[in-house]
Amino acid sequence: MAVHRWQALTTVEFSALPCSEMVAVLPLGATEQHGPHLPVGTDALIVEAVLQRALERVAELDLVWLPALWCTKSDEHRAFAGSLSLRAETLMAVLHDLTAGIAAAGFRRLVILNWHGGNSDLVSALARDLRLRQGVWVFVVDIIRSFPAAPSPVLPGEPPPFDIHGGRFETSLLLAAQPDLVRPGPYTGIGADYRRGRMAERFSGYRFLSPEGGRVQVGWESTDLTADGVIGDPAGANPSEGAASLEQMVDQVACMLREIAQFPG
Ligand SMILES: [Zn+2]
Repeated sequence: MAVHRWQALTTVEFSALPCSEMVAVLPLGATEQHGPHLPVGTDALIVEAVLQRALERVAELDLVWLPALWCTKSDEHRAFAGSLSLRAETLMAVLHDLTAGIAAAGFRRLVILNWHGGNSDLVSALARDLRLRQGVWVFVVDIIRSFPAAPSPVLPGEPPPFDIHGGRFETSLLLAAQPDLVRPGPYTGIGADYRRGRMAERFSGYRFLSPEGGRVQVGWESTDLTADGVIGDPAGANPSEGAASLEQMVDQVACMLREIAQFPG
Protein backbone atom coordinates (compact mmCIF):
# COMPACT_ATOMS: atom_id res chain seq x y z
CA MET A 1 0.00 0.00 0.00
CA ALA A 2 1.45 3.33 -1.01
CA VAL A 3 0.74 6.68 -2.52
CA HIS A 4 2.69 7.23 -5.74
CA ARG A 5 3.36 10.24 -7.92
CA TRP A 6 2.54 9.34 -11.54
CA GLN A 7 5.54 11.20 -12.96
CA ALA A 8 8.03 9.59 -10.57
CA LEU A 9 7.24 6.00 -11.59
CA THR A 10 9.05 4.07 -14.32
CA THR A 11 7.16 2.10 -16.94
CA VAL A 12 8.47 -1.12 -15.36
CA GLU A 13 7.04 -0.05 -12.02
CA PHE A 14 3.67 0.72 -13.61
CA SER A 15 3.61 -2.80 -15.05
CA ALA A 16 4.41 -4.28 -11.66
CA LEU A 17 1.81 -2.27 -9.72
CA PRO A 18 -1.71 -3.66 -9.23
CA CYS A 19 -3.17 -0.68 -11.12
CA SER A 20 -6.59 -2.31 -11.54
CA GLU A 21 -6.89 -2.31 -7.75
CA MET A 22 -5.54 1.22 -7.36
CA VAL A 23 -7.10 4.66 -7.68
CA ALA A 24 -5.76 7.40 -9.99
CA VAL A 25 -6.27 11.01 -8.95
CA LEU A 26 -6.27 13.88 -11.46
CA PRO A 27 -6.58 17.41 -10.03
CA LEU A 28 -8.06 20.18 -12.19
CA GLY A 29 -6.82 23.71 -11.65
CA ALA A 30 -7.10 26.72 -13.96
CA THR A 31 -5.12 29.74 -15.13
CA GLU A 32 -7.40 32.74 -14.98
CA GLN A 33 -7.56 36.21 -13.53
CA HIS A 34 -8.38 36.39 -9.83
CA GLY A 35 -8.60 40.17 -9.40
CA PRO A 36 -5.85 42.64 -8.52
CA HIS A 37 -4.53 40.76 -5.50
CA LEU A 38 -4.33 37.04 -6.39
CA PRO A 39 -2.19 35.30 -9.03
CA VAL A 40 -3.77 33.78 -12.14
CA GLY A 41 -2.65 30.33 -10.95
CA THR A 42 -4.80 30.53 -7.81
CA ASP A 43 -7.09 27.58 -8.63
CA ALA A 44 -4.21 25.25 -9.51
CA LEU A 45 -2.30 26.31 -6.38
CA ILE A 46 -5.32 25.67 -4.14
CA VAL A 47 -6.20 22.27 -5.61
CA GLU A 48 -2.58 21.16 -5.24
CA ALA A 49 -2.44 22.44 -1.66
CA VAL A 50 -5.59 20.48 -0.77
CA LEU A 51 -4.44 17.30 -2.51
CA GLN A 52 -0.91 17.29 -1.08
CA ARG A 53 -2.20 17.71 2.46
CA ALA A 54 -4.91 15.07 1.94
CA LEU A 55 -2.39 12.56 0.56
CA GLU A 56 -0.34 12.81 3.75
CA ARG A 57 -3.39 11.45 5.58
CA VAL A 58 -4.14 8.53 3.29
CA ALA A 59 -0.74 6.83 3.20
CA GLU A 60 -2.56 3.53 3.80
CA LEU A 61 -4.26 3.72 0.38
CA ASP A 62 -3.02 2.43 -2.96
CA LEU A 63 -3.19 5.40 -5.25
CA VAL A 64 -1.32 7.30 -7.92
CA TRP A 65 -1.73 11.06 -8.30
CA LEU A 66 -1.13 13.08 -11.44
CA PRO A 67 0.00 16.70 -11.67
CA ALA A 68 -2.81 19.25 -11.75
CA LEU A 69 -4.10 20.21 -15.16
CA TRP A 70 -3.13 23.88 -15.04
CA CYS A 71 -5.32 25.14 -17.91
CA THR A 72 -8.99 24.18 -18.18
CA LYS A 73 -12.17 26.02 -19.24
CA SER A 74 -11.90 29.65 -18.13
CA ASP A 75 -13.37 31.55 -21.06
CA GLU A 76 -15.68 33.49 -18.73
CA HIS A 77 -12.55 35.45 -17.74
CA ARG A 78 -11.34 36.13 -21.30
CA ALA A 79 -11.62 39.92 -20.93
CA PHE A 80 -8.87 39.95 -18.29
CA ALA A 81 -5.20 39.62 -19.28
CA GLY A 82 -3.40 36.49 -18.15
CA SER A 83 -6.44 34.22 -18.41
CA LEU A 84 -5.90 31.11 -20.52
CA SER A 85 -8.65 28.72 -21.53
CA LEU A 86 -9.40 25.52 -23.37
CA ARG A 87 -12.68 25.37 -25.25
CA ALA A 88 -15.26 22.98 -23.80
CA GLU A 89 -14.71 20.50 -26.62
CA THR A 90 -10.92 20.74 -26.23
CA LEU A 91 -11.07 20.09 -22.50
CA MET A 92 -13.41 17.15 -23.04
CA ALA A 93 -11.02 15.73 -25.65
CA VAL A 94 -8.01 16.23 -23.35
CA LEU A 95 -9.76 14.45 -20.48
CA HIS A 96 -10.88 11.62 -22.78
CA ASP A 97 -7.32 11.17 -24.03
CA LEU A 98 -5.74 11.30 -20.59
CA THR A 99 -8.28 8.81 -19.28
CA ALA A 100 -7.53 6.47 -22.19
CA GLY A 101 -3.88 6.43 -21.10
CA ILE A 102 -4.78 5.96 -17.46
CA ALA A 103 -7.08 3.08 -18.42
CA ALA A 104 -4.36 1.59 -20.63
CA ALA A 105 -2.08 1.45 -17.59
CA GLY A 106 -4.77 -0.70 -15.96
CA PHE A 107 -6.67 1.73 -13.75
CA ARG A 108 -10.43 1.25 -13.43
CA ARG A 109 -11.08 4.08 -11.00
CA LEU A 110 -10.27 7.75 -11.55
CA VAL A 111 -10.87 10.62 -9.17
CA ILE A 112 -11.22 14.06 -10.75
CA LEU A 113 -10.51 16.63 -8.06
CA ASN A 114 -11.84 19.95 -9.35
CA TRP A 115 -11.32 23.44 -8.05
CA HIS A 116 -12.69 25.55 -10.89
CA GLY A 117 -16.43 26.21 -11.06
CA GLY A 118 -16.29 26.70 -14.84
CA ASN A 119 -15.42 22.99 -15.18
CA SER A 120 -18.13 21.58 -12.92
CA ASP A 121 -20.91 20.88 -15.41
CA LEU A 122 -18.53 19.54 -18.05
CA VAL A 123 -16.86 17.18 -15.62
CA SER A 124 -20.10 15.72 -14.34
CA ALA A 125 -21.23 14.98 -17.92
CA LEU A 126 -17.79 13.57 -18.68
CA ALA A 127 -17.94 11.15 -15.74
CA ARG A 128 -20.73 9.18 -17.40
CA ASP A 129 -19.14 9.36 -20.87
CA LEU A 130 -15.90 7.91 -19.53
CA ARG A 131 -17.73 5.09 -17.78
CA LEU A 132 -19.67 4.18 -20.91
CA ARG A 133 -16.90 4.63 -23.45
CA GLN A 134 -13.77 3.68 -21.55
CA GLY A 135 -15.05 1.44 -18.77
CA VAL A 136 -13.53 3.64 -16.09
CA TRP A 137 -15.42 4.65 -12.97
CA VAL A 138 -14.97 8.40 -12.57
CA PHE A 139 -15.53 9.99 -9.18
CA VAL A 140 -15.90 13.74 -9.30
CA VAL A 141 -14.79 15.47 -6.13
CA ASP A 142 -15.89 19.00 -6.92
CA ILE A 143 -14.34 20.68 -3.92
CA ILE A 144 -15.31 24.19 -4.95
CA ARG A 145 -18.99 23.18 -4.91
CA SER A 146 -18.94 20.87 -1.90
CA PHE A 147 -17.67 23.36 0.62
CA PRO A 148 -19.40 26.45 1.87
CA ALA A 149 -17.49 29.67 1.30
CA ALA A 150 -15.88 31.50 4.18
CA PRO A 151 -18.18 32.68 6.95
CA SER A 152 -19.26 36.25 6.29
CA PRO A 153 -21.76 38.22 8.34
CA VAL A 154 -25.36 37.87 7.17
CA LEU A 155 -27.15 41.13 7.91
CA PRO A 156 -30.88 41.06 8.61
CA GLY A 157 -32.94 41.90 5.52
CA GLU A 158 -29.88 41.67 3.26
CA PRO A 159 -29.14 39.02 0.64
CA PRO A 160 -26.67 36.32 1.71
CA PRO A 161 -23.01 36.94 0.92
CA PHE A 162 -21.93 35.75 -2.52
CA ASP A 163 -18.32 34.68 -2.78
CA ILE A 164 -17.32 32.59 -5.76
CA HIS A 165 -14.16 34.09 -7.23
CA GLY A 166 -11.20 35.82 -5.62
CA GLY A 167 -13.28 36.84 -2.60
CA ARG A 168 -12.80 36.15 1.08
CA PHE A 169 -12.76 32.36 0.68
CA GLU A 170 -10.06 32.02 -1.96
CA THR A 171 -8.02 34.95 -0.63
CA SER A 172 -7.98 33.42 2.86
CA LEU A 173 -7.07 30.01 1.45
CA LEU A 174 -4.13 31.38 -0.49
CA LEU A 175 -3.02 33.52 2.48
CA ALA A 176 -2.80 30.22 4.38
CA ALA A 177 -1.32 28.03 1.63
CA GLN A 178 0.94 30.36 -0.33
CA PRO A 179 1.08 33.80 1.32
CA ASP A 180 4.10 34.93 -0.71
CA LEU A 181 1.89 35.01 -3.82
CA VAL A 182 -0.89 37.18 -2.34
CA ARG A 183 -0.47 40.92 -2.88
CA PRO A 184 -0.43 42.96 0.34
CA GLY A 185 -3.82 44.13 1.72
CA PRO A 186 -6.02 45.72 2.78
CA TYR A 187 -8.47 44.09 0.37
CA THR A 188 -11.14 46.73 0.67
CA GLY A 189 -13.10 48.22 -2.21
CA ILE A 190 -12.56 45.13 -4.35
CA GLY A 191 -15.18 42.88 -5.97
CA ALA A 192 -18.92 42.78 -6.55
CA ASP A 193 -21.84 40.82 -5.07
CA TYR A 194 -25.57 41.21 -4.46
CA ARG A 195 -24.90 44.42 -2.55
CA ARG A 196 -22.35 46.16 -4.74
CA GLY A 197 -21.12 46.63 -8.26
CA ARG A 198 -22.26 45.20 -11.59
CA MET A 199 -23.63 42.03 -10.03
CA ALA A 200 -25.97 44.04 -7.79
CA GLU A 201 -27.10 46.15 -10.76
CA ARG A 202 -27.84 43.13 -12.91
CA PHE A 203 -28.93 40.35 -10.57
CA SER A 204 -30.55 41.77 -7.47
CA GLY A 205 -34.31 41.45 -7.00
CA TYR A 206 -34.85 38.13 -8.81
CA ARG A 207 -36.35 35.05 -7.24
CA PHE A 208 -34.96 32.37 -9.56
CA LEU A 209 -32.15 34.03 -11.47
CA SER A 210 -28.67 33.91 -10.01
CA PRO A 211 -25.20 33.67 -11.57
CA GLU A 212 -24.60 30.47 -9.55
CA GLY A 213 -26.87 28.19 -7.60
CA GLY A 214 -30.18 29.69 -8.69
CA ARG A 215 -32.98 27.61 -10.21
CA VAL A 216 -32.51 29.40 -13.51
CA GLN A 217 -28.98 29.13 -14.80
CA VAL A 218 -27.43 32.03 -16.65
CA GLY A 219 -24.38 31.82 -18.92
CA TRP A 220 -22.49 34.85 -17.66
CA GLU A 221 -18.99 36.12 -18.25
CA SER A 222 -17.09 37.80 -15.48
CA THR A 223 -17.41 41.34 -16.89
CA ASP A 224 -21.21 40.96 -16.50
CA LEU A 225 -20.68 40.73 -12.75
CA THR A 226 -17.53 42.59 -11.85
CA ALA A 227 -15.32 45.43 -13.05
CA ASP A 228 -12.13 44.26 -11.32
CA GLY A 229 -12.49 40.50 -11.76
CA VAL A 230 -13.52 39.58 -8.21
CA ILE A 231 -16.96 38.09 -7.50
CA GLY A 232 -17.26 38.29 -3.76
CA ASP A 233 -15.69 40.53 -1.12
CA PRO A 234 -12.14 39.80 0.00
CA ALA A 235 -12.17 42.54 2.67
CA GLY A 236 -12.26 40.16 5.66
CA ALA A 237 -9.75 37.64 4.29
CA ASN A 238 -7.18 36.34 6.77
CA PRO A 239 -4.79 33.41 6.99
CA SER A 240 -6.32 31.77 10.06
CA GLU A 241 -9.72 31.51 8.41
CA GLY A 242 -7.98 30.13 5.33
CA ALA A 243 -6.11 27.55 7.39
CA ALA A 244 -9.37 26.44 9.04
CA SER A 245 -11.14 26.08 5.67
CA LEU A 246 -8.14 24.23 4.26
CA GLU A 247 -8.13 21.84 7.20
CA GLN A 248 -11.86 21.13 6.74
CA MET A 249 -11.42 20.46 3.03
CA VAL A 250 -8.32 18.33 3.47
CA ASP A 251 -10.07 16.23 6.09
CA GLN A 252 -13.13 15.75 3.90
CA VAL A 253 -11.12 14.97 0.75
CA ALA A 254 -9.09 12.38 2.71
CA CYS A 255 -12.36 10.76 3.88
CA MET A 256 -13.71 10.81 0.32
CA LEU A 257 -10.55 9.16 -1.05
CA ARG A 258 -10.82 6.41 1.57
CA GLU A 259 -14.43 5.77 0.60
CA ILE A 260 -13.62 5.71 -3.13
CA ALA A 261 -10.77 3.28 -2.45
CA GLN A 262 -13.30 0.89 -0.88
CA PHE A 263 -15.58 1.02 -3.90
CA PRO A 264 -14.97 -2.02 -6.09
CA GLY A 265 -13.72 -1.01 -9.51
ZN1 LIG B 1 -10.52 30.51 -8.19
